[in-house]
Amino acid sequence: MDRRHFLKLLGALSVPLCHPGLLRASDFSSDVLIIGAGACAFVLARELGASGAQVTILESGIKHYSPWHQALNQLEMNSVIRETDYHQSTRRQLGGTTWIWGGLCAPIQESDLQTRTRFGYGADWPIRLNDIQQHYGYAREILSAAPAEGQLPEEKSRFQGVRLEPAVVSRQPGVARALMMAARYPEVTGHPNIRLIVDASVRKIQMEGDRATLCEVQTQAGRRHRFSAPLVILAAGGVQNVRLLQLSADRHYPTGIGNQSDHLGRHFMEHPDVAVVVDVGEEFSADWGSVRNLFSFDFYNHSERHAYGAILLRMLKWDRDGGGEQVLLDLMCEQEARPENRLVLSDKKDALGDPLPRLEHHLSLRDEATLRQAHRRLKQLIGSRLHSSVQPVIRYNSHHPSGGTRMAEHPGDGVTDLYGRVHGTRNLYVAGSSLFPSNGAFHPTMTAVALSKRLADHLQKT
Ligand SMILES: Cc1cc2nc3c(=O)[nH]c(=O)nc-3n(C[C@H](O)[C@H](O)[C@H](O)COP(=O)(O)OP(=O)(O)OC[C@H]3O[C@@H](n4cnc5c(N)ncnc54)[C@H](O)[C@@H]3O)c2cc1C
Repeated sequence: MDRRHFLKLLGALSVPLCHPGLLRASDFSSDVLIIGAGACAFVLARELGASGAQVTILESGIKHYSPWHQALNQLEMNSVIRETDYHQSTRRQLGGTTWIWGGLCAPIQESDLQTRTRFGYGADWPIRLNDIQQHYGYAREILSAAPAEGQLPEEKSRFQGVRLEPAVVSRQPGVARALMMAARYPEVTGHPNIRLIVDASVRKIQMEGDRATLCEVQTQAGRRHRFSAPLVILAAGGVQNVRLLQLSADRHYPTGIGNQSDHLGRHFMEHPDVAVVVDVGEEFSADWGSVRNLFSFDFYNHSERHAYGAILLRMLKWDRDGGGEQVLLDLMCEQEARPENRLVLSDKKDALGDPLPRLEHHLSLRDEATLRQAHRRLKQLIGSRLHSSVQPVIRYNSHHPSGGTRMAEHPGDGVTDLYGRVHGTRNLYVAGSSLFPSNGAFHPTMTAVALSKRLADHLQKT
């Protein structure tokens, strides 16, 4: 999309937004409060609004990128992730992190659901593959995701013996994805049942016994408001979901809501990866057909999973300036869920005066074995046939914060139940990748959106 088209789209997006200061007294109560306006929140608002509920979305950011709001995402790092700007991995803005995501949509695999039982590490998911898969069609529609275009002849769909398939990827290019999301769903942004409030940073969820009753909100100008609803859904992203439950600690929940069994914030996961960009010649391109974005699951569902984790190969091809082509080969690795990898509250504070999150996050021996294996695989793939222009680099994250509020059947094993209801509460739910008990080597968003649809269906039935 060129700049002209982008600006046209921006103009076409007339989302009716309220600032808390413009609301009437009756606007502060509704049937459902959703915290955050990212992909998961959009799905929940769309479905619950359509079923007749009065929905209020409380979004911390505003329509445009705002450094002041983005800084509320800052976090302290004691992590293998070396990026100093990791807080940019989630976006404080209407539309959330879809502003900057890559749009890749590899699905969860059956093996990911039972790593504890089958391979002896991490935790099993308390739901079945079909519970997720049945909502993938919906998720792909919401995310405009489809197999990458082009021809990949069956007999040529191998590279160095590895089977390739077109990657499933969002068709909306670059930064326009978030705008598209808002513009394409007028049933969310213009629905009479749905009120979308920006510059509304939730600082605390107030509980009365086992019920969430109020969300305390503050604007950039320092005004404070309170919103209430009989149902509260937290969809603030992988890090902030955890932080808000921790910030909401009170006399009855001294270390945070849902932390009775000390799982809140623990089992944090990312996706370390090994990547290289190589120059390729005509010969290689011809083998490959015209598909430019490919996945291989050959290193994913392997028989040694008890020794090292799942690895997803992604290949992306583009034309090089001055002729020829370049290919990115990226092997995204599973990180095992471990209680030591966790989000806690820091002593440092944000502009609203609330403690920042601190990430304690390191690789286990298994994670290191997975990365070594990915490195070996990459070297085998490159072989002597291609001219490598860059040495393989190990990167320590793919911007996929997961875990932290993991789902578990029993309160002693996790933070939420099978749908995302926080254990020990009646009406407080969580949506997003923080629910994942393990994160395999799949991209989180399509699965998080599928789980959000599943939650919306469940709430409509109950
Ligand atoms: C560079 C990059 C590339 C990525 N590529 C991919 C990819 O290819 N495939 C993939 O599957 N995933 C990818 N991701 C991850 C993907 O973007 C996220 O999984 C997804 O956007 C999360 O959606 P969400 O709705 O759970 O949260 P978010 O989109 O993060 O939305 C959370 C919302 O909550 C708001 N919020 C936060 N705190 C508060 C508060 N206290 N009060 C009110 N509102 C609040 C935020 O402003 C935000 O709007 C990528 C991420 C990055 C950074």
